[in-house]
Amino acid sequence: MSIALAVSDLSVGIDGKQILDKFSIEVPFGEVHAIMGPNGSGKSTLCHVLTGKSGYQVKGAASLGGDDLFSLDVDERARLGLLQSFQYPTEVAGVRLREFMVEAGEESGLDTEEIASRIETESVRFGMGAFLERSLNTDLSGGEKKRSEIFQMAVLRPKVALLDEIDSGLDIDAVKQVAEAVEEMRSPDLAVLMITHYSRILRYLSPDRIHVMIDGRIVDSGGSELAEELESGGYDSVRQRLGIEKIIEDGPMQKPADFFTETPFDL
Ligand code: ADP
Ligand code: MG
Repeated sequence: MSIALAVSDLSVGIDGKQILDKFSIEVPFGEVHAIMGPNGSGKSTLCHVLTGKSGYQVKGAASLGGDDLFSLDVDERARLGLLQSFQYPTEVAGVRLREFMVEAGEESGLDTEEIASRIETESVRFGMGAFLERSLNTDLSGGEKKRSEIFQMAVLRPKVALLDEIDSGLDIDAVKQVAEAVEEMRSPDLAVLMITHYSRILRYLSPDRIHVMIDGRIVDSGGSELAEELESGGYDSVRQRLGIEKIIEDGPMQKPADFFTETPFDL
């Protein structure tokens, strides 16, 4: 079992504020891991730092297939096979989705025919045909943007995919669709880190391991029993069991009563 993504003792700060605190994880090739954490626990920061966004004070190590990520620029990390799907995909007016995929594919070293064939196949599979000639993410609904992220992942076939809240802003049918797509993409050459604060996606997706992240670090890891605990008691249950004090209110979406709302919320 070879390790696709290894992060060890990663501490991250911004403007003197510590966001990640000795965060460590290993995701082997072929596996899907879920990181679940309340708002503000540092999930998106983890993705940004691994992908190479600048502006953070970073300590610790991270590697993809054994190659050190922090010594590489953003584009080099992407070429190595790292993909981040964004919590809030950016609208890029004037750049068509098809053009974007062709450029990204070429930069990844794929030949023109292979790119065209993947775009064709995957756009049919994810119902993205109507969006190929439209500007990237522009005027797409929340759900369509997330579907587009999955489509891009299917075309580019990364080695490590960081899926940041791929399920937020979606109605329950779309969550199911996205979860099934992730399951379908499982492959011995891919490791997925699925990051979310809702456990509802875990009804349709069976991660090999679930990690609970609170205040910038993983406080517990396990299997489906953790999803069940979160489903019934929210993060408060995990905090209580582990004796972790609540520093910040999780906000209305994390209260247990709302935790599994099937009502999509606005992005
Ligand atoms: P999550 O994705 O788990 O909701 P984030 O990684 O977005 O959490 O944020 C973690 C914490 O770091 C939050 O308290 C957030 O306000 C803070 N934070 C994130 N980015 C910045 C920034 N650029 N400047 C200051 N604080 C930030
Ligand atoms: Mg986030």
